[in-house]
Amino acid sequence: MSSAACIFCKIIKGEIPSMKIFESEKTFAFLDIGPLSRGHSLVIPKFHGVKLHDVPDDQLSEVLMVAKKIAVAQGLVDYNILQNNGRAAHQMVDHVHFHVIPKPNAEEGLG
Ligand code: 5GP
Ligand code: ZN
Repeated sequence: MSSAACIFCKIIKGEIPSMKIFESEKTFAFLDIGPLSRGHSLVIPKFHGVKLHDVPDDQLSEVLMVAKKIAVAQGLVDYNILQNNGRAAHQMVDHVHFHVIPKPNAEEGLG
């Protein structure tokens, strides 16, 4: 299920370009266009749901594992996994997404 007006659904379909990191039957991951640090990525279910509770469990099952794989592949030591639901929680794009935000420390250099 997708939404014609949704920018992340358009990214999944390739109608809007993105820097794709991972794709499977149910899951898509790409670099954030406004990164909070170098390598900031987004992991999304292909199923269009606005908030976490809008997405069926079977459509979400891979998302956290893909976020973990990205963190491992990037060699991250410190990082945030963030997922916002609703405007009051700072959700700006109405398609469920998990942020993977690297937090490099002083030894690793600036992000
Ligand atoms: P939110 O505040 O909804 O949790 O985060 C939405 C994220 O989506 C932001 O970090 C923003 O930079 C990112 N974003 C918004 N539009 C696009 C886009 O067209 N392409 C990509 N790659 N990221 C986007
Ligand atoms: Zn969507």
